[in-house]
Amino acid sequence: MLPKIDKTLLPLPTFTPQKWQTVILRNYGIVSNKTIASVLKTDEQTIINEAKKLGLENIKFCNKWQKLGYITIIRNNWHLLPYSQLIELLETDEATLDYNLREDDFLNVKLGLIKSDCAPVYYSPLTKEDEQKTSKIASLVRASFIPSYVDYFDFYPQNTHTYATKPNNTGFDRIVYSYSMLYGDTFLDGEEIVPDGLLAQMQSMGVNGIWMQGVLAKLSPYPFVEGMDEGYQIRRKNLNAIINKCKKYGIGVFLYFNEPRGLAPDQISEKTEKIKGRFYEERWSLCTTQKPVQDYLYNAVKDLVLAVPDLAGIITITMSENMTNCHSRHNNDCPFCKHLKHQDVVPEVNNIMQRAVSDAGVKTRIIANLWAWTKSYDWSDDDLREGIERMDKRIDVLSVSEMGTVIIDGKKEEVKEYSLSKVGPCEETKQNLTNAKKSGHKIMAKVQINNSWEFAVVPYVPVFELVKEHMQNLKNLGIGGLMMSWTLGGYPTVSLDLANKIFEDDFDYDKWLSLHFENQAPVIKQAVKLFSEGYKSYPYDIRTLYMGNQECGPSNLMYPHKTGYTATMVGFPFDDVNTWVGTHTVESYTSKLSVLLKKWEQGLAMLENVSGNDNVTELIRFAKVVYINLKSTLVQIDFNLKRENGNNQELLALINEELSLTKQLYELSAQDARIGYEASNHYYFTQNSFLEKLVNLEYLKRLYKN
Ligand SMILES: [Zn+2]
Repeated sequence: MLPKIDKTLLPLPTFTPQKWQTVILRNYGIVSNKTIASVLKTDEQTIINEAKKLGLENIKFCNKWQKLGYITIIRNNWHLLPYSQLIELLETDEATLDYNLREDDFLNVKLGLIKSDCAPVYYSPLTKEDEQKTSKIASLVRASFIPSYVDYFDFYPQNTHTYATKPNNTGFDRIVYSYSMLYGDTFLDGEEIVPDGLLAQMQSMGVNGIWMQGVLAKLSPYPFVEGMDEGYQIRRKNLNAIINKCKKYGIGVFLYFNEPRGLAPDQISEKTEKIKGRFYEERWSLCTTQKPVQDYLYNAVKDLVLAVPDLAGIITITMSENMTNCHSRHNNDCPFCKHLKHQDVVPEVNNIMQRAVSDAGVKTRIIANLWAWTKSYDWSDDDLREGIERMDKRIDVLSVSEMGTVIIDGKKEEVKEYSLSKVGPCEETKQNLTNAKKSGHKIMAKVQINNSWEFAVVPYVPVFELVKEHMQNLKNLGIGGLMMSWTLGGYPTVSLDLANKIFEDDFDYDKWLSLHFENQAPVIKQAVKLFSEGYKSYPYDIRTLYMGNQECGPSNLMYPHKTGYTATMVGFPFDDVNTWVGTHTVESYTSKLSVLLKKWEQGLAMLENVSGNDNVTELIRFAKVVYINLKSTLVQIDFNLKRENGNNQELLALINEELSLTKQLYELSAQDARIGYEASNHYYFTQNSFLEKLVNLEYLKRLYKN
């Protein structure tokens, strides 16, 4: 079922004389003219003519969006078009959209689980007055237009440097997510989901593992619901092809499993009536203390690894996420296992999988991620220790380095993952990994190195000092490997290379800097030191990470009046300042961000007029994007708080500042296809977004000049 329509939300303002012009402005070059014409009930030539009237005639059409960037299309049009037109624009059908919204890494949540009540938008000829206003828009667009805008999705250019110095400790795991992988039904797409350009670069820096999501019922015969496993043989064939391709680069393939998945009420039949455990969030768990469920898990994993024998490993999550075992959520009331403790049930899920791979005689490893084996899920310290002890010793134990209590300047801070600014490992992870090591497990840490939800729209945030400190701490713990990213942060960057190299015995930071930045190494070192110091002041809060404006930066539209829309998880920030700041007050949020920005200004000033190799260019570019987006967030906060009763001069100054930031981000994005992109959200901004923002700011300028 598609998210429901919320009739209480007023339509979001648009800034062209006619709404259908905004449809063209947002989608021209992204969706084919034929499709836009059909959506707006007109013909292709009219779309071409009208786009020209808006100054868009030089936008190049890219045909990759429907396959690789559909999330961007959905987001851009979610509050602009009704479902019927959105579906037509996506060249899809309702069932596919519904599937994508639910299965594509919780896309429906990112959209807010609601949709505003959009009236259909159709073409109608412009009036004379509209024509005049439109010609002003065209002049504005043409004056700022960058014709040489980079090709979208061109992530692995041929001339990109390689790293030439592979680390020598090859037994150490370095597992990342493929930077540009689609999250949906991954294995129906074949081996092109791991491009050669990416694999070659990863190999050159010593990455030896790549992970992707697997859904067991789609990869092995599923006994409980007829037809659920349809296509599993094709997926296995593709998975084998992916494994063989990666093998050529010395890279193993790991599947992330969150199993056994629960079932919707309409999927429960006579077969599952007797093994269903508890009902939570529209799903029945299948109780893993029951033999048929245990047999299923064992057989499905065994059958899979027999068919895909070179699978390097399975990384499990056994708490939270999708509804799986009965204990994966709070307040378990399953009649079979409610009297048991977490540690009586959860470790056994991993043990079953371990027995399956061992009995199959393959080398596939089971890596148990302790994600959400935490106090917030009612695991006491003793429970945790017991839980780890109860796992088969052949299982590797992985703990999320940043999730828990971090001591900063002698003070305790709670971090809920995804932080580069608060250097881990947290106390809980230290304890878990020490316990796991004592009881004979290989230990690993899951970290974010390149970026995190603090800032995700550049391949890496240049804060080497923080990465260095974190990795050194983990090295001291004696870890045997890293899961180096979740779905964000998987690009083979110098920062990832740095994290790799720190685990070598003879690592020397200055030598490493010289290797990558050549004669500019000294100035890069100084600037990065300032960036790292400043980044420590990032106003961390998990709500800010998910709901803030940092990813969109100046591409976020500004409105003269409060929209009433609530910011959504890594989706829309809107103008919802109170949600952006999370548990901070607006004052404490802006003051922390200002401290950060001040240091970055100093660092960027040092790098002005510095030029060097590709690594130097890239570092400066990414540092600027971080600065611009965070600065724009401050400007927008100021504007949103003052817009209803501030004085016009003040508001105009903010608009002009935002205009300058928008142009700067536009220019930087035009040079690098990776800026603005993140694998599970696709592009946060496009060339069209910047042009629309210019139109938006011009509208506001006129408003406050009067
Ligand atoms: Zn149960």
